[in-house]
Amino acid sequence: MADHDKNPLLQPWQTPYGLPPFDRLEGEHYLPAFLHAMHTHRAEVKAIAESTDPPSFGNTVAALDKSGQDLHRLERLFFNLTASATSDELQAIERDISPQLAAHRSAIAMDSKLFARIEAVNERRDELPTGGEERRLTERFHLDLVREGARLSPSAKERYAAIVERLATLTTQFMQNVLADEAAYRLPLASEDDFAGLPDYLRLAAREAAQERGIDTPGIITLSRSLIVPFLTYSDRRDLREQAYKAWTTRGEHDGPHDNRPIAREILALRNEQARLHGYRHYADYALSDRMAGTPDAVADLLRQVWEPAKARAAAERDALAALAKEQGATHAIEPWDWRYYAEKVRQARYHLDDGLLKPYFSLERMLAAAFDTAHRLFGLSFVPRPEIRAYHPDVRVFEVRGAGDRMVGVFLSDNFARPNKRGGAWMSAYRWQSRAHGDTLPIIVNNNNFAKGPAGAPTLLSADDLRTLFHEFGHGLHGLLSQVTYERLSGTNVLRDFVELPSQLFEHWAFEPAVLKRHALHHATGEPIPDELIERLNEAQRFNQGFETVEYTASALIDMALHSELDPAGVDISAFERAEMQRIGMPREILPRHRLPHFGHLFASSGYAAGYYVYLWAEVLDADGYDAFVEAGDPFDPDVAERLKRYIYSSGGTLLPADAFRSFRGRDPRVGPLLVQRGLADVPQPA
Ligand SMILES: [Zn+2]
Repeated sequence: MADHDKNPLLQPWQTPYGLPPFDRLEGEHYLPAFLHAMHTHRAEVKAIAESTDPPSFGNTVAALDKSGQDLHRLERLFFNLTASATSDELQAIERDISPQLAAHRSAIAMDSKLFARIEAVNERRDELPTGGEERRLTERFHLDLVREGARLSPSAKERYAAIVERLATLTTQFMQNVLADEAAYRLPLASEDDFAGLPDYLRLAAREAAQERGIDTPGIITLSRSLIVPFLTYSDRRDLREQAYKAWTTRGEHDGPHDNRPIAREILALRNEQARLHGYRHYADYALSDRMAGTPDAVADLLRQVWEPAKARAAAERDALAALAKEQGATHAIEPWDWRYYAEKVRQARYHLDDGLLKPYFSLERMLAAAFDTAHRLFGLSFVPRPEIRAYHPDVRVFEVRGAGDRMVGVFLSDNFARPNKRGGAWMSAYRWQSRAHGDTLPIIVNNNNFAKGPAGAPTLLSADDLRTLFHEFGHGLHGLLSQVTYERLSGTNVLRDFVELPSQLFEHWAFEPAVLKRHALHHATGEPIPDELIERLNEAQRFNQGFETVEYTASALIDMALHSELDPAGVDISAFERAEMQRIGMPREILPRHRLPHFGHLFASSGYAAGYYVYLWAEVLDADGYDAFVEAGDPFDPDVAERLKRYIYSSGGTLLPADAFRSFRGRDPRVGPLLVQRGLADVPQPA
């Protein structure tokens, strides 16, 4: 077709680093490009499946890894943009293309000739080099296909494909409903009285948010985490806190076109059917069979070790909040919309620490430099800004990443600010993964945050929480950038779900490391380094409110596991289920789960974290124990520990089994103790 010549998505990208030609993309380019790329991919897979040569690793497994490059390039571009810079047009294309992509993937998984060849190579995998990537890749693809239904009977395959396709539609709708509820809500701050208690930075951010949306009121609070959470923390107006909190915690739970309850119910029923087709009792068993934890029991075991001590801690915290509220003349009990507010007051009284005190030292500019410098000291990376390269939005910054001997190792995009057309939260993803199988392919990695942008001409100042998020996502980014593998399927963060948070959560430790803060946390106006005693108080305060944090997180993890362990979820009303489950686990009445089910994107915006919200805690066992290796070495940048960390964790992708990777790095299996200490849920051990 002649149109193909004009569609930049169907041409090679003659751009710096092979970045997408962002400035030339039009909505109309996507659908034809997707159809063309799916067609090409199908032809490539057909050639592998119908080859008359005996199946070998090269002509079957490696060939499958290489197939579909145009489609993958396009999918990564498109889904990065629908997350970071979406539009009505892109959302409509997404609803259209998601089920088609699911059907395309199913068709490959259900190709019995392809599976027979993969199975033949897998059966002889012992002939491949021990501990080598070839064997891992063979096992991985074999398991991928089995889990996508390759072994099912022909009639079951047909049903399975229909389920997968329907799930793609439902999960897309679920996330779009949450976005719609978030976009629809704004709490107007009309008079000075409505601003009571808010620190300066929040007043400014509320004003900016109103201006950005062209709303003629002095300020608004939206449901973006960077506005709503500080508002609940600082607003003296209990009535407004209650109003905003209720809007925030009922996203997706309203009658009408954006109601997520029937969508979630259908998703759950389909997942259960999917698991039963595979021969599992329920979805949790199926999901856990491809995780480091292995079984729901192993997860339950970890959650149990944390849940009761966390509740005990939260009860003590609540008593302290209630005492302070009473002292200040309040006559009400502590309600969920009061917790953050009084917790902040107790924290200030106890540690004389608030974000207003810290923020001047945490400018985004310097904290980004701190993250880069930490990556330099640990892993020898340098980040060279390329301001002349424009990505998909002027606020996105492009860096060239260089390693030992100034060798280029990848490209890093840094997208830090909240925008109305960007989804909430923070995440890392890739425009291209590292691999070596067909020439040296360098990774293009992006970090997305949702920080409230500083006013024009002034720096963006981060809270301690923002700083943690910045380092967290950068840790994921390093996992992508440092990848040193041959095959794309095993590259970077393409590891088991309960292992993937290890590199990110581990990296958070350096955000609060005194050696890092002393060097980089300089006052944005005076250039003075952050005082030692402020660093000390900051680190002491890290354990404050951990009862609350652990209860809200663990409750979400417990509800997720219970929900996906239902044997017959077709009739489940998720709101009622959630209430009953909270009762059963003894949820404190002053705390709600961190994510309520009607907007729990981890579970319902895709299947990646279904029966998998626990993974953060699972990985925290590994990161707390892992960071202790540096503590034991007496140096947060100990070169030997850093070298092992780089080799076995950040560079190895999915080439090693997670348990083996951790053991190689740490010299032994992980222990739970350091996690309990880190969260203040166990007594700090006395030196022997
Ligand atoms: Zn993460």
